Amino acid sequence: MPVSTSAQPDAPETDWGSALEPVLVAAGIVLDGAPVLPSRPATANEWQSLMVPSSINKLAVKRYEGKKYATFSPEAISLVGADVSFGSEHDKFTNTGRLNELGFMMKKTENRLVKTMLHAHGFMQCSPKSRSFNLFWSSGHVPPEKLRDLQPWQRVNHFPRSFLITYKHYLYDNISLMRRQFGEAYDFIPEYYVTPRDYDLLVEEHEKNEKLSVEPTMYIVKPVDGCQGRGIFFTDSPNDIPLEQKMLVSKYIDNPLLLDGHKFDLRVYVAVTSFNPLICYVYSGGMTRLASEKYLPDVGEKAEFVHLTNYSLNKDNQNYIKNDTFMSEDVGHKRTLGALLRRLEDDGIDSELLMVRIEDLIIKTLLSGQDHIATWAKNTFISPDNAFQLYGFDILVDENLKPWLLEVNISPSLKCDAPLDSVLKSKMLSDLLNLACIPLVNRNSRGRHSSRESVGHRHVKKKSKQPNYSHGSPECITYAFKKKLELEDSELMKRSSIGGYDKMLYASLYGSLAAETKADSMVQWELMRPHLFPARNLLSQGTRLYIGIWAGLAVQYSNKINEDLAINVHIPSVRASCRLRTDSYAAYAKKKADLKREKKKAVEAAKASTEEKENEVKAAVPPKSSATDEPLHERCR
Ligand code: ADP
Repeated sequence: MPVSTSAQPDAPETDWGSALEPVLVAAGIVLDGAPVLPSRPATANEWQSLMVPSSINKLAVKRYEGKKYATFSPEAISLVGADVSFGSEHDKFTNTGRLNELGFMMKKTENRLVKTMLHAHGFMQCSPKSRSFNLFWSSGHVPPEKLRDLQPWQRVNHFPRSFLITYKHYLYDNISLMRRQFGEAYDFIPEYYVTPRDYDLLVEEHEKNEKLSVEPTMYIVKPVDGCQGRGIFFTDSPNDIPLEQKMLVSKYIDNPLLLDGHKFDLRVYVAVTSFNPLICYVYSGGMTRLASEKYLPDVGEKAEFVHLTNYSLNKDNQNYIKNDTFMSEDVGHKRTLGALLRRLEDDGIDSELLMVRIEDLIIKTLLSGQDHIATWAKNTFISPDNAFQLYGFDILVDENLKPWLLEVNISPSLKCDAPLDSVLKSKMLSDLLNLACIPLVNRNSRGRHSSRESVGHRHVKKKSKQPNYSHGSPECITYAFKKKLELEDSELMKRSSIGGYDKMLYASLYGSLAAETKADSMVQWELMRPHLFPARNLLSQGTRLYIGIWAGLAVQYSNKINEDLAINVHIPSVRASCRLRTDSYAAYAKKKADLKREKKKAVEAAKASTEEKENEVKAAVPPKSSATDEPLHERCR
């Protein structure tokens, strides 16, 4: 029996108004309208614990390679609207943008936290048609022609073709492709079908099970481009699946790990600053979202509150418990990732190993889309630094402590519905903007429309002179290839494959060169088999060596977001060791090709040895004479 969910889309966020309008983000709480202070910390101590010492960020500017970049801090938004005299502390942040005439443009969103953070740093909001902005913030995909237009000093919060990992069916198809190539290392998505494409396969599987009298499989069915639990239903029969809409039908994971008897999933935030090489940062503060009703294996009444963990759905349940103080991370149906991990540790579970598995899943997921996204980024942007992106990974953990990837969100919600959201997200957003490295370039005075500098315009201009080759002809292919080489040869594009840039950025942000995690785990599979390797000492020596320091440092995920002073003073709070960086794309591609070649060789060798064996068997059997070939009764005749 299909059970559908009826989540309403969240109400559109209202315009926040001008930068100077009183806005309260006390400890990150964004409120509408007049500055009320209900969630203001009760004591000076509490307040203090959320503040960043002002010795950090004195100028709100960072420098390296002789260039200046804006520095962001959640302290800036906690000063806006707070009961402080507008003096140097406040100006330190707002002057960053004001004096340099920095601006941002927003499309498809009016997110208040983003707006407030940027206004608090003196950025002005530009019209959606403007081309002179320092930062382009969109909540959805940005058309490539917009991306091609960017100048080297402009930033956008999306990579082209990101939908390859953020649309459910593309994501699952890409991962299953990797699985075919690299085996169990990529076994972290449930069995799935994309309908109507795979409908016949699904029916075939169902009929096979029926014949064998196997209990029918329970599927969870979701629209491929859906979100917030909208349009999801459960079924065990292919007949219930509508064929007029593209759906992702995946096997229901019926043994989730439970927290206080409730199903939960994790939201892990990942910032990517480059796909070539892949450089990503996993945010140390994540969310644990619990279903608002206790878990029951059956899909019965109130199924959406038992089996789905979306906040947007569960908040409408009368049993939903809101977490309404910013100091408590471990109550209610929305908690921090750290609170969950601490709880697991108390129950004797190796939470660091769990986080290593999750990091492994994250990097493999990004690798599954890397080929396409890196190529598009290279061909679209004039500078390798133009784009950055925040992804929200939704992960379910089963009772064997195996992480399962449910989906990757292109624009994880930055709405602050609870004080906990505000604390976590304002810190995260400031980190993200720091990683984006926005140069202090006056948008009004710097050759902003110089089309010569822009790859896109160069492209378009040349295109008009392009000889009229027919599409797909050898001349057309040669021409396209030549253009691509020209593009890659340009000084700016060359930089994208040179290491070092991100290391400098990292050092400038954190003041040290952190140990680099080699995220080369494409053939690593033991981490995805926790039922066989439940503890670190059961992993092979190679794997233990591989996860070495990495696992030890995963302890940072368990830190408290509010009470641990060490975390508060270290802005940004991106987990230091979890800056994952792959080899250069060329090296990665070579490794992939080598692996493919080895596999092919192994298959050929296996084939040759079977043939040899068959020949040996044939040679060993004496040739049958025509007389003995005859059946006995024939010979006797
Ligand atoms: P949406 O994008 O609409 O939020 P998700 O893929 O995140 O869709 O799924 C919504 C919720 O459904 C998840 O938070 C999770 O609790 C549950 N869920 C999704 N897929 C599965 C699955 N294969 N097995 C068990 N639960 C699932």
